[in-house]
Amino acid sequence: MDLEIPINSLPNTSLITIRRFNQLGIKTYFDLLNYFPFRYEDYSLVSPINKVQPGEVVTLQGQILDMKNEYTKTGLKIQKLLLYDGTAKIEAIWYNQPYLLKLFKLGNKLSLAGEIKNWGKKIFIEPKEYEIVKNNFLIHTGRIIPIYPEKKGLSSKVIREKIFYLLNSDYLVNEFLPEEILKYNSLVKEDYSYKNIHFPENFLAAKKARERLAFDELFVIQLSANLVKQQWQKEKVGFKFMIKEHQEKVNQFIKNLPFILTNAQKKAVAEILNDLSQSKPMNRFLQGDVGSGKTVVAAIACYVAYLNGFQSLLMAPTEILAFQHYQTLTSLFKNYSVKIGLQTSSKKISKKQGLISDFNIIVGTHALIQKKLQFSRVGLVIIDEQHRFGVVQRAALKEKGINPHLLTMTATPIPRTVALTLYNELDLTYIDEMPKGRLPIKTFVIPQEKRMSAYQWIKEKIKNENIQVFIVCPLIEESTVETMKSVKAAKKEYQFLKEKIFPEFKVGLLHGKLKAKEKEKIMNDFRQKKYHLLVTTPVVEVGVDIPNANIIIIEAAERFGLAQLHQLRGRVGRSDKQAYCFLFSEIKNNQAQERLNFFAKNNLGIKLAEYDLKIRGPGDVYGLKQHGYLNLKIASLTDYQLINQTKRAVLYFLSHYSVDNFTGLYKRLKEYQIKQITRD
Ligand code: ADP
Ligand code: MG
Repeated sequence: MDLEIPINSLPNTSLITIRRFNQLGIKTYFDLLNYFPFRYEDYSLVSPINKVQPGEVVTLQGQILDMKNEYTKTGLKIQKLLLYDGTAKIEAIWYNQPYLLKLFKLGNKLSLAGEIKNWGKKIFIEPKEYEIVKNNFLIHTGRIIPIYPEKKGLSSKVIREKIFYLLNSDYLVNEFLPEEILKYNSLVKEDYSYKNIHFPENFLAAKKARERLAFDELFVIQLSANLVKQQWQKEKVGFKFMIKEHQEKVNQFIKNLPFILTNAQKKAVAEILNDLSQSKPMNRFLQGDVGSGKTVVAAIACYVAYLNGFQSLLMAPTEILAFQHYQTLTSLFKNYSVKIGLQTSSKKISKKQGLISDFNIIVGTHALIQKKLQFSRVGLVIIDEQHRFGVVQRAALKEKGINPHLLTMTATPIPRTVALTLYNELDLTYIDEMPKGRLPIKTFVIPQEKRMSAYQWIKEKIKNENIQVFIVCPLIEESTVETMKSVKAAKKEYQFLKEKIFPEFKVGLLHGKLKAKEKEKIMNDFRQKKYHLLVTTPVVEVGVDIPNANIIIIEAAERFGLAQLHQLRGRVGRSDKQAYCFLFSEIKNNQAQERLNFFAKNNLGIKLAEYDLKIRGPGDVYGLKQHGYLNLKIASLTDYQLINQTKRAVLYFLSHYSVDNFTGLYKRLKEYQIKQITRD
């Protein structure tokens, strides 16, 4: 039987059940087989009735001698059934399930599993599972049974039944990995794994099955990443940037910067320049904590492209950030004849300024590459604050005849395990050092009753030290785009603060629904210290750089993920002055408090990401839950050992085998890649 058959052909299955399975994303037999239990119940002890002891969890089998519904004075409905197996009789008792007895007939052979209880001397069983014994095989009793996540109205029992059917039909799970790899990694076989993850012979078998299937999952992901990487390495940019010839000019540019590059920045620059000198396209992922100075590294790369006569595109996730990058670059290049353009949905390069192709660097939002613009000789594309540069965007670029060097930058730290699994196709550079003289930001969790004194303290700071303050309003809805509701809340907060708390100061308001011109003006005014305080929705989350802002207040802090909080906190502490972060939180729940306290004590993005990964899971950490991104079924992204093991196995596979000779593996790869593409 082919596993690609749709589950619609499951026998004795109602349309409703099939629809529910479909809603869970289970369309084929293969999908069904890959719906894994999250735990088991052990009902494998089958006991004669005369041997049972209170407290035992057992399976009993016998004939139904009698059954009845009883009603207590309190209105409770009790179902009683008398079971006899030739050694003794025992009563089985259920509560409030009157329909149950309609399923049985006197004389039926019944198998019950559950705990033996006693009431004084009287011994009875409270069954958790039952089944009428028909064909001498047992599904729900008499063995270790799987318990599945119950979603969309599907009970564990129904799922178990369908999977049992599948495993006992003549389906075929082909082994898709070479024997040698299985042996080396002490892995059990594929078909054994599927049998034993669902209906384990014993708990060791279940464990071995799980290990194997987790290995499979990571193997396919990592193999896919490696193949993508191999593919990219075969590609040619068609030009190499000359580096040596321009080294002198680059050094001069670096020397003229308003600061000295950190060693980590220098190392990043060296790696990037080396990539740019190759004929295969760079595909580098630059990670550095907030404020570590990634922008200037990007600027140097753009300068090298310019010196080689190529255009660079620099893309940011938001317009605000695109404006800022535009300004930063304009100021960095003010004594150079590098022509810089800004092209977003509201700011377009005008005819008066020149043709798109006249510009050496074009700054815009991520949408820049979707536009039908007449770029000219694009040699470098830089994408800021992107967790991942998708296969799709790359394809989009190629479609336009552009096959440039690529640099992706992010401040959202990615734990090593995740990087190894999901970013295997990229070359990684870490900027693991902050510019000199930065003081760690002091973070405080402020309960409701201390709010006023915090405001008071901030007022003093503004008066005495002329410090500027960000006030971030709560995240109202979990959404990547800003909603009207958030804007309204921010306006209200703004009015309140302006009138009631900080009447003697200038307060500004920034949110995503403002026109681009207004946003730009407000940011500029704030930069030029025309406001003391800026109330904002979380739109400032990424990238904004205002070195004189040294205090940030985050309202309803518990609603943010740690990575997000860290990004917000990173808006301050961008100079050598002490910066402060106040987390306002009204929630007294322990776990939320603990999380915020952990955040307050830790200034390193990577520590926070690891904590979040452990506590909240990868979907939450990267705010990409809705895309099913990183949603591993069975493997864990925190399992460093297994991730490393599969990584080695993948490399071994690639150097000794060819995917083309492994049909099963090939199929899985294709499926994974399709899922990945639809996700991006
Ligand atoms: P991020 O890595 O978060 O994008 P930015 O590139 O915005 O950080 O840099 C943060 C701030 O640090 C900017 O104001 C920038 O001018 C400054 N900066 C960058 N590199 C250095 C350095 N080596 N020494 C001092 N300041 C620096
Ligand atoms: Mg940045």
